[in-house]
Formats: sequence, C-alpha cells, structure tokens
Amino acid sequence: MKLTEWFKLESLHISSSPLLLSVIGIFVLLVTSFVRILRKLYKGKSFHRDDFNSLALDPLDFRSFKLIEKAIVTPNVRLFRFAASHPEQLVNVPLGKHIYAKAWINGKEVRRPYNPINKPNQVGYFDILVKIYPAPYGLFSRYLDSLEIGDCVEFRGPKGKFEYKRNMKKRLGMIAGGTGITPMFQLIDAILNDPLERTQISLIYANHTEQDIIFRNKLESLASQFPTRLKLYFVLNQPPSSWSQGVGFINEKHIQHHLGYASSSIMILVCGPPAMTKAMMILLNKLGYKGEDIFKF
Ligand SMILES: Cc1cc2nc3c(=O)[nH]c(=O)nc-3n(C[C@H](O)[C@H](O)[C@H](O)COP(=O)(O)OP(=O)(O)OC[C@H]3O[C@@H](n4cnc5c(N)ncnc54)[C@H](O)[C@@H]3O)c2cc1C
Repeated sequence: MKLTEWFKLESLHISSSPLLLSVIGIFVLLVTSFVRILRKLYKGKSFHRDDFNSLALDPLDFRSFKLIEKAIVTPNVRLFRFAASHPEQLVNVPLGKHIYAKAWINGKEVRRPYNPINKPNQVGYFDILVKIYPAPYGLFSRYLDSLEIGDCVEFRGPKGKFEYKRNMKKRLGMIAGGTGITPMFQLIDAILNDPLERTQISLIYANHTEQDIIFRNKLESLASQFPTRLKLYFVLNQPPSSWSQGVGFINEKHIQHHLGYASSSIMILVCGPPAMTKAMMILLNKLGYKGEDIFKF
C-alpha cells in the first residue's frame, strides 16, 4: 500500500480516536524537537564555514570584535584595528558609511558611531580612527584608548545615507575638519586605487596645528601619485611661521579658489565638528551650492 493511502486511512482512523490523536501529537512534538536539535548541531558544526561565507559586520546585530592592533596617529588620535572572526571574511564597510560601537562603561550602555577607513572589499579586519578627548569628556574614546590587545568591542553596521557610485560626479569637493577626515580618506583611497574610476578630488582639510593633520603623509603620497586627480589644501588656525597654505578657519575664498562655484559636475562632501559644518553650509550656499550638491556626514 502506498504511503499516502496508508496515511489517509490512519488520519481517518485517528479522527475517531482521542487516544491515538494525543499519541500522534506527542510523536509530532518529539519529531520537531529532534529536528530542532539536529539543526542546532549542524549550525554548531558548520560555524566556521558560515562565518567565512557571511559578512563580519551585521547592520542589525551587535557582534564582538577583538582588538588586534592599536597605533598613535597624532598626539590625541589613535587607530584601532579589529579582527573579523576569520582572516578571509569580508567585513562590509561600504564607502561613506559608519558603524556603531557599543560598550558598558561605568554600568551604562554607551554607543558611538565611527567611520571605518578601509576599502569596501576589506577582508579579515577593519580600522577605526578615533580622537581621544580628555576627561571629563571622551567617555567612549577614553574607554577605547584603555583597551588592551585581545580585548573585545561590539560593533553593528554599516549605517548611513551616503551612497557612492563609481564616477557618479566628475569632481568631488571635500571639506573636512579633524577626525572628519575619516570618510574622506576612505573615499580618496578607494577612488584613486580603483582602475575604473576617473573622479577628480579636491580636499580642504582644517586642523589646529600642523601635527594634528591626520594621514598627511598618506594623503600627500596619493597626491603625488595622482597629481591630476587629487588636490590637497591644508588650513591651520595655529600655523608654524613657515606655513604657506591656509591660515585661520576655512573661508569663502578657500572654497572658491580650491573647489569653485556650484556646477552640475561637482558634489561637495562635508565632515567635521558641528560648528564647522554649520559655517561651511553658509559659505557653500553663498557659492551657489544647495540641496543635492552637498552631503554632510
Ligand atoms: C556618523 C558619525 C561618524 C563618526 N565617525 C567618527 C570617527 O571616525 N572618528 C572619531 O573620532 N569620531 C567619530 N565620530 C564622533 C564619535 O561618534 C564620538 O562622538 C566621539 O568619539 C566622542 O565620543 P566620546 O564618548 O569619546 O566623547 P563624549 O563623552 O561624547 O565627549 C565628546 C564631546 O565633549 C565635548 N567637548 C570635548 N572637549 C570639550 C571642551 N574642552 N570643552 C567643552 N566641550 C568639550 C564636545 O562636544 C565633544 O563632542 C562620528 C560621529 C558621527 C555622528
């Protein structure tokens, strides 16, 4: 007799017997529990393979990442490298997106966004560049600074509205202040090292002193490698006596001279402290930039 036929008979038979019904109920329960246990076991066994194939960062779930390197970039800026669970695992850090770090500090859960500076196809690890604020400020940055190699931090991401498409504009005009360089650096490095890219970039980068300029060597070496594609202009409000670039805060003349007036071929990206970005918006509006011409990180 065919199984289906047998089943039909049984089910007809069952409907008329409450005892058999509960026996079947228990049987179904046992089978589903058994299947659940098998699934868990399978997941456990294939953990490393799944991990390898999936992305290290998840936009919804915080996941734990081990600190594997820590470097001093400027007197108050550090670079932290966190490892994915597998050295060849894709991290998932699209251009211009940020990720959230989470930790328990003084009995409270604290979260802060940071812009990873890696290329979108980064595997095995990701890097965040963080300014360490002095006490009583800097709750999270001082916590990060206190970490030892091997300590873990939870991260979730990527997040953010910025969407970059290859060659989407002929030119990108960038205005950054301090650690506001992070999304700009990620974009500059990725765009210039992409053989299918033609985008030209002009960066105006503001800092207090010359030693505060983050990634100066790296930026200058990219500018000499791609002289027609990357132009740099540093602005310092405490410049050394020999300084020949911008002095004070970024002003209308700096923007007009290095980025130019608004046009359909250029998009402006701004990232820095709130007071600076507010001032930049006013200057950019004066030069005709508005709405979609500008993205504020
Ligand atoms: C989308 C996004 C991306 C970001 N990416 C980065 C990044 O890549 N790198 C990075 O370093 N930061 C980044 N930040 C900022 C970061 O999220 C935190 O805000 C920063 O690390 C400070 O957090 P904290 O807990 O250390 O300091 P907090 O305890 O929050 O204190 C810092 C704040 O204290 C205030 N403060 C500091 N010094 C003084 C002073 N002398 N007088 C008065 N007030 C003062 C300032 O308002 C300052 O913002 C990003 C922020 C956003 C929104």
